[in-house]
Amino acid sequence: MRFVDPLKALADAERKPYWLDSPAKPEPLPRLLKDTTADLAVVGGGFSGLWAALMAKERDPSLDVVLLEGRRIGWAASGRNGGFAMATLTHGIANGLERWPEEISTLERLGAENLDEIGETVARYDIDCGYERTGELNVATEPWQLDEMNESVRIAHELGIRFDVLDADQTRAEVNSPTYIGGFWERDGCAMVDPARLAWGLRQACLSVGVRIYERTPVRNIKDTHAAMELLTPHGTVRAARVALGTGVFQPLLRRLKHFLVPVYDYALMTEPLSAEQLASVGWHNRQGVGDSANQFHYYRLTADNRILWGGYDAVYYNGGKIKPEYEQRDETFVKLAGHFATTFPQLSGLRFTHRWGGVIDTCSRFSAFYGQSHGGRLAYAAGYTGMGVGATRFGANVMLDLLAGERTERTELRMVKEKPLPFPPEPVRSAGIQMTRWSIAQADLHQGRRNLWLRTLDRMGLGFDS
Ligand SMILES: Cc1cc2nc3c(=O)[nH]c(=O)nc-3n(C[C@H](O)[C@H](O)[C@H](O)COP(=O)(O)OP(=O)(O)OC[C@H]3O[C@@H](n4cnc5c(N)ncnc54)[C@H](O)[C@@H]3O)c2cc1C
Repeated sequence: MRFVDPLKALADAERKPYWLDSPAKPEPLPRLLKDTTADLAVVGGGFSGLWAALMAKERDPSLDVVLLEGRRIGWAASGRNGGFAMATLTHGIANGLERWPEEISTLERLGAENLDEIGETVARYDIDCGYERTGELNVATEPWQLDEMNESVRIAHELGIRFDVLDADQTRAEVNSPTYIGGFWERDGCAMVDPARLAWGLRQACLSVGVRIYERTPVRNIKDTHAAMELLTPHGTVRAARVALGTGVFQPLLRRLKHFLVPVYDYALMTEPLSAEQLASVGWHNRQGVGDSANQFHYYRLTADNRILWGGYDAVYYNGGKIKPEYEQRDETFVKLAGHFATTFPQLSGLRFTHRWGGVIDTCSRFSAFYGQSHGGRLAYAAGYTGMGVGATRFGANVMLDLLAGERTERTELRMVKEKPLPFPPEPVRSAGIQMTRWSIAQADLHQGRRNLWLRTLDRMGLGFDS
């Protein structure tokens, strides 16, 4: 194998999210500059808020809906992720079965319907986001990972879900890496999207149905005056009957949320486009998203112009739980990721990266979103998607709308929806516990997946840390 210098491959990589660095980026919408009223005020212009606003209008076109975004639509996690729109609502079938065994088949069905409906919405509004329902190829690179894979496949088959098991040769026939020893292809479980274009497309869809969107309009506070919910922004107040919070991991407007969420940084690289020869050397005719199966995993995929997005592995919690722009760049992680890329695809040596970036994830201790209400049912929230919100935020938005309407639906009656995750302990115990967990996870990967006493204790308590 030729020696590959990760620093050389990274030398020209721009320090910004590839997807957001696009000529398709729309001009900013106006700020809110005066007081206004609304039936529904949505806070946050990521996928959570965009889906909530759009579907509120689809449910009732006469509703007056305002969406308030503190910066730009899609600038945060929603516009800079891997673009794997997953069907799962529970961060994978095994995690869902572990926590809600009696609901898992319903949750899987609802997740599949949700992903179908995302595809239908993309088609209905003609959203140009490279939507491809290619599924996800899960690959094993160590024998112990095969055992865990077999368990997921067994559960899926019991639930009647199609997971195609592949041996080493079959896996490499899909995507050619010498590191693969087996895998399975979850054919229907995932669609690939360009996430920024999806966010911008949903923004346009919202505008087309009459949602009023204000960008660069941070909500500083929410006051309940009994007559209305008042959302205070720098230059105007919105008086709304109902509020949907889609604010992700940022400074919560509802204090209780801070106990359940921690900001975890995830990082990604984008290569230059592959030549026809380079692409042929990898195969990848079915264009699936790929995920490897260690606890510290990589996710990777092709773009429309045949670049490879390569992300994951390090999930970084900065002590104290702050969110800072400088955390979006981490050279130590980029060098590690570039090195792992070279090991996975030695035939692509010489390929250069054009972009490197990071983003912050709303991690909660059960790895899948939680939902709730406050202010006598007039405010609803959904958060905690833990690195799997591209698809699931639409389901979460539907839950918020059900709750705000006071409707009992199949969704609102789920234990998953009614229950909250275990809260994280306060600082400094929080940082110490998370760093201990990260260290233990890395150790497990080095020792055939064996989980130490710390991880086993957390497992028993239903507490975890992931990205
Ligand atoms: C690098 C990376 C890779 C990922 N890869 C995947 C993947 O492949 N598949 C997957 O399913 N998930 C992935 N995720 C996670 C996924 O991106 C998120 O789960 C999802 O985008 C969450 O959407 P959201 O709308 O809840 O939050 P966000 O996208 O974070 O949006 C929240 C918005 O609320 C706004 N806001 C916050 N507070 C206020 C306020 N007070 N006033 C006004 N506005 C406010 C913010 O400015 C922001 O725009 C990844 C995340 C990252 C960072």
